[in-house]
Amino acid sequence: MEYENHDRSAEEQTAAENPTRREAIKFLIGGAMAAACPVPAALLAAAPAQTRVGSESNEICHKVRDGSTFKLPPPSAEYDVVIVGGGPSGLVAAHDLRDVNFLLLEKEPRLGGNAISEQWRGHWYSTGAAYNGDSHLEALCREIGMEIRTIDSIDAAIIHDQVVPEFWTGGYWKCAYSQNTKKSFEKFLKDMRAIDVEEQAEKLDAISFAEILKDYAPELKLYFDNYGPNNWGADVENTSAFVGVQSTRWMAGLETRRFTWSGGLGRISLALEDNINRAGAGRLRKGATVVRVEQKASRIQVSYLEEGQAVTVTAKAVVAACPKFIAKKIIAELDADHLEAMGKMRYQPYLVVNVCCREVVYNGSFDTDIPAPSLIVDFNVADWSEERHNQETRRPQVLTCYVPRPERERALFLSDDYCKQMGEKVVEQLEVWFPGARGKVEEVRIYRRGHAMFVSAPGVTTQLAPRIRKPFGNIFFAHSDAEGDITDFSSALQAGRRAAREAKNALGHAALRSSPVAAAMPAR
Ligand SMILES: Cc1cc2nc3c(=O)[nH]c(=O)nc-3n(C[C@H](O)[C@H](O)[C@H](O)COP(=O)(O)OP(=O)(O)OC[C@H]3O[C@@H](n4cnc5c(N)ncnc54)[C@H](O)[C@@H]3O)c2cc1C
Repeated sequence: MEYENHDRSAEEQTAAENPTRREAIKFLIGGAMAAACPVPAALLAAAPAQTRVGSESNEICHKVRDGSTFKLPPPSAEYDVVIVGGGPSGLVAAHDLRDVNFLLLEKEPRLGGNAISEQWRGHWYSTGAAYNGDSHLEALCREIGMEIRTIDSIDAAIIHDQVVPEFWTGGYWKCAYSQNTKKSFEKFLKDMRAIDVEEQAEKLDAISFAEILKDYAPELKLYFDNYGPNNWGADVENTSAFVGVQSTRWMAGLETRRFTWSGGLGRISLALEDNINRAGAGRLRKGATVVRVEQKASRIQVSYLEEGQAVTVTAKAVVAACPKFIAKKIIAELDADHLEAMGKMRYQPYLVVNVCCREVVYNGSFDTDIPAPSLIVDFNVADWSEERHNQETRRPQVLTCYVPRPERERALFLSDDYCKQMGEKVVEQLEVWFPGARGKVEEVRIYRRGHAMFVSAPGVTTQLAPRIRKPFGNIFFAHSDAEGDITDFSSALQAGRRAAREAKNALGHAALRSSPVAAAMPAR
């Protein structure tokens, strides 16, 4: 955990010694490209002594992408299942395979993928996934011992720089829209809910959400031009109408029961990790980047790089829980149909800007959505599930601001300056909405991902995903991008569960008998 060991007293001491430092806003860059683009020395010099810079590296994956070859040794160990990727879907697969002799390989030094929680001075915040409302996920959380914390709050919106509480349950009637626009919002919601989405799935998935929205007030398009990138990686032109229409059942707190924890759904990743380790330690390997997966006779060889060393192991089955833009590069001799379908998937880059404040800036709703053209599409109160009723305003607070960017800006993510500029704009914007906010900000922590969310474009759910998740020999495809619909923790759960089941079926009962872990486990 990059920021977890923040020593509060030491930092406060540093700040007390140097008040100008305390007043400075520090931009800490984490994420996919940070290793390649270190934080400028001047910035580090301004940061308090105890501050750590988080980073994630895709250096090896980029080498694979660019066609580098690696000298790979012969196999040195044998497993029943190897899981590639320790995001939510890989962790769920590992949880379901905990009685099997498996090995999970994760390229990062921590597990969780896009669902990772960090801390600032002991205050949790999310670098990605924030909340969910799926009853299956809730059941899994209970099973692994997590107490469910419900949100009980309808999203606010910010319209013309004014906070509008409970936007979709009547708030829009009170905002600065024209009467015609308000009526159009009402009609839209009614019309969308009259559509039988499941029955019309294929038809809807063949067109863009823009096609549907053209019959309504332009403010609806603006709303979804930001809500889409926030939740499924696409503006209305690039969103499947299936996804757009379906979202009107659950969006913005209309879902009956949403849950979260301080720091978001990364807390589930941590709890899963604990549970899996309790069932058998040493099977979740971090800092291990898979570079090749190759079917050979009755076994699959999986090669990975760990601390500069190449290692090869064999498995009877593989669960590929990494995204498909990587899977298609590391799986040898993948058939043309998989390659074509995977090649059509698109991924949106995303900045998550955590604004760490010494005082409360806003505590009116868990989540607040802002229509286009706002840079911040949404922000949430990181400790809402625990502190929403706390009236004290002189306490630290983190606002998690979501800043998805169009695919054409992906390369800009390589620049620290670009990310810092975005962080500065986020603070500027908060100051407009909440005058005085800037003066309360102590740090800005930016997490960047070049390929964060798959784009829920027309055809992804009904055409591409079914082709993508077809097994390739004994290689089974997890990752949420194999499910279609939208990427969220519940689609990751579904993907991980399915792939684990497929792997178990492929193993048959022989795997359980041969598993050293299973042999050591007490009978249930
Ligand atoms: C900004 C943001 C906000 C979000 N908000 C929400 C939300 O509020 N609610 C919600 O439910 N969902 C949300 N999501 C989506 C949610 O985070 C994802 O659906 C979930 O993380 C998907 O899990 P996954 O396992 O499918 O993939 P990922 O999270 O992408 O995990 C894939 C893992 O594979 C690893 N990997 C890749 N290549 C290799 C390799 N070669 N070798 C080894 N390991 C490899 C990666 O490092 C990563 O850990 C959000 C996502 C983002 C980016």
